[in-house]
Amino acid sequence: MIYLDHNATTMVDERVLSKMMPYFINIFGNPSSLHRVGQDARKAVEESRETIANCLGCNPEEVYFTSGGTESNNLAIKGTAWRNRKKGNHIITSTIEHHAVLNPCEWLEKEGFSVSYIPADSKGIVDIDALKRAIIPETILISIMWVNNEIGTIQAVEEIAEISKERDITFHTDAVQAIGKIPVNLKKIDIDMLSLSGHKLYGPKGIGVLFVRKESKIEPLIHGGSHERNLRAGTENVPGIVGLAEAINIATTEIKEENERLLGLRNKLEQGLIGRISDIIIYGHSKKRVVNTVSVGIRNVEGESVLMYLDFEDIYASSGSACASGSAEPSHVLLEMGVDQQLASGSLRFSLGRENTEEDIDKVLITLPQIVEKLRSMSPDR
Ligand SMILES: *Cc1c(COP(=O)(O)O)cnc(C)c1O
Repeated sequence: MIYLDHNATTMVDERVLSKMMPYFINIFGNPSSLHRVGQDARKAVEESRETIANCLGCNPEEVYFTSGGTESNNLAIKGTAWRNRKKGNHIITSTIEHHAVLNPCEWLEKEGFSVSYIPADSKGIVDIDALKRAIIPETILISIMWVNNEIGTIQAVEEIAEISKERDITFHTDAVQAIGKIPVNLKKIDIDMLSLSGHKLYGPKGIGVLFVRKESKIEPLIHGGSHERNLRAGTENVPGIVGLAEAINIATTEIKEENERLLGLRNKLEQGLIGRISDIIIYGHSKKRVVNTVSVGIRNVEGESVLMYLDFEDIYASSGSACASGSAEPSHVLLEMGVDQQLASGSLRFSLGRENTEEDIDKVLITLPQIVEKLRSMSPDR
């Protein structure tokens, strides 16, 4: 199998799995229990929090465990809105966010908040001048993703953090696609809240973190016990937390050499595709882009059909459209970048990862041009 869909999810790293195993049976206690088996679990949770804090450059007390990226984004956005609604009711985000940011914002609009959605340019970079212009006295939150999941573009998070700081506005970033792909140091950059997710970085599914800087004030969404310093009730997912810490530790330690390796594979893939397929374009910024993501548009084919033929060959990628209720809608990100509907429907995303090899890329470069040729010869447009 050739798996090229790492931005959707990743395989759990063997090293992560082996760290997690004892916490299912031997050290199964509830971290809130005062007896030994509970306190052993508590120790694992707090040590994991420290490991993650060290990797991110923050304090352990600023690390809150959640069920994943979606919950972290919801907690950051709705939690800030609710807590600060007397201060103001205006939120700024971008049009190219993940739905785990866009949909909480849309929900808040129904609750009386107003939201400005800042556009991105044709390279998929959010327009900073438009963002500055959108700020009003009522603005309480700016939420802009660090790395886009569809095209891999890296946003000017440092600059947005400075702008937010100057205006005393809380800044949240969805860093689900950034952690493990670009160096992140919260000591050096004034982000107030940051979301990350385990399963996007070779950790388990159903675990994530919301970093909340000490001064930030947010309201919990889940009420119950006093877990996670009263911000997120519910018995801790101990194996998940242990696995997430190991996953972040590995990703942080290996980032440099892994990025160099992936860049080699990505360049080979991009250049190979451009050389072998006519009417193909690579989306996104040539430099401000993570090394694992290749998003392409191919004219006169349907992305879904290409994926189906790739699937027959045991090659797994994804298309630039979200298949909702049977109808394939072109990606909101590509449409925002001004890609025409026809090209957007022929778009594919290859997201490379840890287990990919040169041979994988060779196989894709042989298989994909054949599929495109076959589909084009069948297409009524030709
Ligand atoms: C996957 C993803 C999410 C959602 O994370 P889950 O842990 O799957 O809920 C949010 N934002 C981005 C950018 C993502 O890629």
